Amino acid sequence: MDPSRTVDDRRIWPDSVCTACGCLCDDIVVKVKGDRILEAQGACSIGEGHFLGNRRGDGPEAWIHGEPANFDEAVERAAILLAGASCPLVIGLQECTTEGHRAAVELAESIGGGLEVPGVSATILSLQSVGEVTCTLGEIQNRADFVLIWRADPVRTHPRLFSRHVLEPRSDFLPGGRNDRFLAVVDIRETTTLKEADLAIPMDEGAEVEALWLLRALVKGIAIEAEQIAGVALKDWQALVERFRAARYGAILYDGRSNGLSVRGIHSLVRELNERTRFVVMPLHSGGNGVGARNVLTWRTGLPGAVRFVEGQGPLSSDAGLPSATAADAVLVVSGNPMVMDNEPTTEVRRKIPRVLLTGNQEPHPQAAEVVIRTAAFGIETSGTVYRMDGVPLPLRAVVASRFPTVEAVLRSIEHRVRERRA
Ligand code: SF4
Repeated sequence: MDPSRTVDDRRIWPDSVCTACGCLCDDIVVKVKGDRILEAQGACSIGEGHFLGNRRGDGPEAWIHGEPANFDEAVERAAILLAGASCPLVIGLQECTTEGHRAAVELAESIGGGLEVPGVSATILSLQSVGEVTCTLGEIQNRADFVLIWRADPVRTHPRLFSRHVLEPRSDFLPGGRNDRFLAVVDIRETTTLKEADLAIPMDEGAEVEALWLLRALVKGIAIEAEQIAGVALKDWQALVERFRAARYGAILYDGRSNGLSVRGIHSLVRELNERTRFVVMPLHSGGNGVGARNVLTWRTGLPGAVRFVEGQGPLSSDAGLPSATAADAVLVVSGNPMVMDNEPTTEVRRKIPRVLLTGNQEPHPQAAEVVIRTAAFGIETSGTVYRMDGVPLPLRAVVASRFPTVEAVLRSIEHRVRERRA
């Protein structure tokens, strides 16, 4: 059902979802005139930039070797490239709806390739070893009287997190709102969030793991003899542990890009805290739909993060060392961001191999890949399902029309051509 209404010459979309950060605020009122977004009421400055920065993409719908091409030519070239590779890899998937993720999994299966959601594997391996005590943002909003922000700066990166969910809301359990909650922040930098803390602990750079294991020891009641640990006086760490103990419902929020060892330390700490009181933990993810990618991959294959399809054997885990990535001889980047691969350890290997890029960027670089195909802008011109960082699915609605197809439509066209060629 279309919930929009028209007032004068403007279309008004209530309860729109902002995908600019992992909060996925779903209360934004977007006002559109023609194909131009005029206002994103309720959004923070990052969200406003996301909505108002959207312009109708001009120019060709695709490029092959930097030369303009039409959609069919580009799909054909992409199908030849991927179907002809002995070890193709599908990567990216953050800026994509769940429907697009499903199409990506099916394409990877039909070309007998690998599929990888960047940055997920290390975290998943850690979580599988210690488990995860998590919740929704609504639960934190209603119950958390103690919040620890561990090495993250949500005031800057997730501007509405505190006001909507974590710190300020009043609830039946916490009628005083901010006054009923205690905020502790541990970081290595003087962040904006650290300045707002009731208890701020600036620790030494590189001491994160040491600090987490110290906290675990203190929570267990193990006596520690030292004046300072990780650049922080022992008495300050002890003060934090006292706050842990005093909490009726505690929540630890950390940067979703943390490394595997830190994730393991944080989740182990939460597991131990739950022997004494109630504690939950949640990674603060950036924008897009990386959580959805992980979920779809798990539903469809049973393997989150990275998977390799081998004909006759079904999906195989690629988690240990990602052999699919290093052995790939063709890569399909499904994301609005062609730099997605530049965070990966295997970048140099991947740079040398042919790439197909699907991008919703309004000014894509024609040379970014051998084949570049433009798609509708994620979060603005695409409808579908997206997952908030706490795992809650939300309906995303296109507030303006696009002249380009969705990621899902492009992937299905490539898969169709691959099958036709094989037949
Ligand atoms: S907090 Fe995040 S999701 Fe909410 S409006 Fe700002 S950028 Fe968008």
